[in-house]
Amino acid sequence: MIGRTGVGLFDRALGKARRAYAERCTFAHISIPADFRAVSFCFDDFPLSAAEDGARTLESFGLRGTFYTCFGTLSHDSPSGRLAGMQDVAALHRNGHEIGCHTYDHMNCSFVEADDAAQSCDLNRRVAAERGITMENLAYPQGGIRASTKQLLSTRYATARGTLQGVNRGLTDAHGLRAVRIYEHHAASAMRQRIDDVALEGGWLILYTHDVATSPSRYGLSKSRFRDLILYTIGRNLPVLTIAEVVRLIGHAGAAHVGSGPIPATAGQA
Ligand SMILES: [Zn+2]
Repeated sequence: MIGRTGVGLFDRALGKARRAYAERCTFAHISIPADFRAVSFCFDDFPLSAAEDGARTLESFGLRGTFYTCFGTLSHDSPSGRLAGMQDVAALHRNGHEIGCHTYDHMNCSFVEADDAAQSCDLNRRVAAERGITMENLAYPQGGIRASTKQLLSTRYATARGTLQGVNRGLTDAHGLRAVRIYEHHAASAMRQRIDDVALEGGWLILYTHDVATSPSRYGLSKSRFRDLILYTIGRNLPVLTIAEVVRLIGHAGAAHVGSGPIPATAGQA
């Protein structure tokens, strides 16, 4: 988690309004079959603890996660601890985890023009490509998004998510995927309820955090809670998949697809 700096009240209000409008605009959709169930574990601008303990915990169950990376902020200090470095990202990729895009410099895309956001993303993807990493999916830093950027980037990534909370079901905005924060100060029962809900009703639950540490930051999760959550997910017979794996799976299912086009106003659920 990289902090928010230098944003005044007016800009904050403007960013909020742009984000609210962008959330109502859909440029590409993904159709999630009624009987589909999956949970994805994600890390945004993750510190070393997530790249090490978070990844190892997933791997100990034979599972993989999605790590949304800003190549321009590698090894920087953050409220969640020192961010992972190039070697750590390379190791994650080597071990089969997905490396997602989080802009190059953790840009809040509510506050900039679409071309500037796209340039930051393009630079991030270029640096990744130089290391043999293809970034297929995007997470907007701090959930900052605006409609023009969403439209432009919907042609470059299969999916994108911000901080819109909820479970994805049915015909869904592919660039406004819902997700659920998993932070240590959140009630464990609420996290388990989300998983129970998907086990019973179906859907795609995307969980995200930052650090996974013995003493987590307010934006992270303890190692024990993270492990418990994985165990609970497995216990409910839910597949744990990366974002890219879900896109490939439902893209190949025939009944569902990722594509451009209008989306009914009723689509997308909390
Ligand atoms: Zn972030």
